Amino acid sequence: KYQSYTYDHMLEIRKRNVAPTLLMVYKKPLLLHQGHMQWLFDYEGRRYLDLFAGIATVSVGHCHPKVTAAAQAQLARLWHTSSIYMHPPIQEYAEKLASLLPDPLKVVFLTNSGSEANDLAVFLARLYTRNFDIICFRGAYHGGSPYMLGVTSVGYYKHGVANGFGCATTMLPDVFRGPWGGSHCRDSPVQTVRKCSCSEGVCHAKDQYIEQFKETLNTSVPKTIAGFIVEPIQGVNGTVQYPKGFLKEAFQLVRERGGLCISDEVQTGFARTGSHFWGFQSHDVLPDIVTMAKGIGNGFPMAAVVTTKEIASALAQNLHINTFGGNAVACVVGAAVLDAIEEDGLQQNSEEVGTYMLLELAKLREKFEIVGDVRGKGLMIGIEMVTNKGSRHPLPDEEISQIWEDCKDMGILLGRGGLFRQTFRIKPPMCITRKDVDFAVEVFRTALERHVERAAAK
Ligand code: PMP
Repeated sequence: KYQSYTYDHMLEIRKRNVAPTLLMVYKKPLLLHQGHMQWLFDYEGRRYLDLFAGIATVSVGHCHPKVTAAAQAQLARLWHTSSIYMHPPIQEYAEKLASLLPDPLKVVFLTNSGSEANDLAVFLARLYTRNFDIICFRGAYHGGSPYMLGVTSVGYYKHGVANGFGCATTMLPDVFRGPWGGSHCRDSPVQTVRKCSCSEGVCHAKDQYIEQFKETLNTSVPKTIAGFIVEPIQGVNGTVQYPKGFLKEAFQLVRERGGLCISDEVQTGFARTGSHFWGFQSHDVLPDIVTMAKGIGNGFPMAAVVTTKEIASALAQNLHINTFGGNAVACVVGAAVLDAIEEDGLQQNSEEVGTYMLLELAKLREKFEIVGDVRGKGLMIGIEMVTNKGSRHPLPDEEISQIWEDCKDMGILLGRGGLFRQTFRIKPPMCITRKDVDFAVEVFRTALERHVERAAAK
């Protein structure tokens, strides 16, 4: 059937009938035909190594055979009951997912998207604490719903209507772009970009950022707050990492104000950061509420909120229902994703292949003036592009776009993020191999060399 559509016809329909807010991304947008594990194929049969995985979503591989088989079997058995009846998949999945979280995080709410999960998390925090105000980082992305737009703090996602009030943004502890450095104090195999004036294990940058956090608490919110929502590593904003120890101190300050701590694991969860299954674990903290989406379903629309029995009970005062949350097909998909992560050794792969990739990319940072920073953990990697390392000015958009297009033409799909969309984002399906990394790094190097040649010819 697809063969009867031409590329131009597809593009015409897209422009006429599909939501105009969707980014078209490349100059000539990709028309994809099929996916297999870490690979995507376009309608002309060209193959791409997918380093963005549908925005960090395809966790175990496109059309992973095990996950596909689980979905197909459930589709033939029972699609949907809504969670008002019992059908084994929802119980089995909730039990399996809860077993991956530390005590007392054992109660699972199932939703359909990350925004819905975060809406519910903030709602729970407000109900449970009977406070209203939520703290979040500048540069955070927690969703596009009107409720979440209060905490999502990336300007190009904001809209001028009343939304999400009761949200206070606080300074982002960005150890590359921020005023105090501290990149050797982040949890990444690549640390040496901008040092702060640390001494004897006391991180100066972390202390400065904590002072800023206290200032927000003292100036922008009442004495008691509902909570703090945070990504363990910022995703949309370009893989921004905080100095070690920051979250631990911030969580304590939030709790002193009566607030709950919400870890948004939509991008960092499900083994992506390699060393741990959840991003919060690298910060040595225990959140009160954990939200997850994207990688949870390998591309199937599903999401979850996990919290304690006590906090969950705040919502049991009255009815709360989500028709599709806990859908039977979603639950078997989710369970098969967890099996695939374990059976395919994907957490270990994230750690090993991700570290290898980070170190290879760091070599390019040494070589090219426009590669300002290479950072991340496991298979959540950012490459921040600058005009030069001294100024750290973002590389102009047209220049980044050309490098991006060149990578695509040579078979590598990268994401972009950051306030100026100056950071390339790498979050591939976690089944990627070292050989794939060698290919990707070679392509990226070639694209950078072409940039240097273009600049010299100007
Ligand atoms: N939280 C984070 C960290 C995200 O990256 C996103 C999506 N980019 C969301 C929440 C919202 O998820 P969704 O698009 O599924 O609503």
